[in-house]
Amino acid sequence: MEGSILRIRDLYVSYGKIKAINGVSIEVKKGECVAIVGANGAGKSTLLKSIMGFVKRQKGEILFLDKKIDGLATHTIAKMGISFVPEGARVFPSISVYGNLLLGAYKEKDKTTIKRRLERVYGIFPRLKERLNQAAGTLSGGERQMLAMARALMGEPKLLMVDEVSLGLMPKLVDVVFDVIDRLHKEGLTILLSEQNAHKASEVADRIYILELGKILKETDRDGILNDPLIKKAYLGM
Ligand code: ATP
Repeated sequence: MEGSILRIRDLYVSYGKIKAINGVSIEVKKGECVAIVGANGAGKSTLLKSIMGFVKRQKGEILFLDKKIDGLATHTIAKMGISFVPEGARVFPSISVYGNLLLGAYKEKDKTTIKRRLERVYGIFPRLKERLNQAAGTLSGGERQMLAMARALMGEPKLLMVDEVSLGLMPKLVDVVFDVIDRLHKEGLTILLSEQNAHKASEVADRIYILELGKILKETDRDGILNDPLIKKAYLGM
């Protein structure tokens, strides 16, 4: 494993009086797939949103490729190489699938590069290729999730962050999306995902952080999560 791509030190984030993140320190190394596992309201989305600069931190430091990114604007953070797939597969509903994909590469001006990226995402998501001219709002939930991921990949990120990909999807589609995550990871992409489903997380992640009430309760590898009595009870329903 190479060096660190993302390092968070002692992060605190509040919404008014609500303390969502209470002193979180995590690290993601190049090429790793890391999962943040936690229940509803644990702070998973807030953690990812604070990395992306959507929510401001009260305290702490966020380093991306050894550069401080906390306090930077979201578009600057995106430009440095982080793509975020938000919860609920948000796409631009009135724009075509193709248009949504192009928006994911809006910073890239070179037509050949854009074409190469399009071919790559068509290879990963053949379903989208069949629906290029369809308005994104008319896609099924699973297809929208795929489009949201494909759009994020069009930016050719160094770090892909995926928030609660399995939420609201049928189990079969959850499997499809997790297969894609696994494939991207095996191709060398660094991934940070948040997930309520500890089982699914353990299928793809090299390492897992358990987040509870805004604090990291535990860090474990993928086998550890399935064998830890505490995790089994709280997150695997055993
Ligand atoms: P879920 O799985 O339900 O999305 P989560 O782990 O992603 O949960 P967050 O959405 O990060 O959790 O929420 C963490 C805490 O912060 C919760 O108590 C939530 O109510 C609160 N919170 C989140 N967003 C806001 C906001 N915009 N304003 C006020 N409180 C918020």
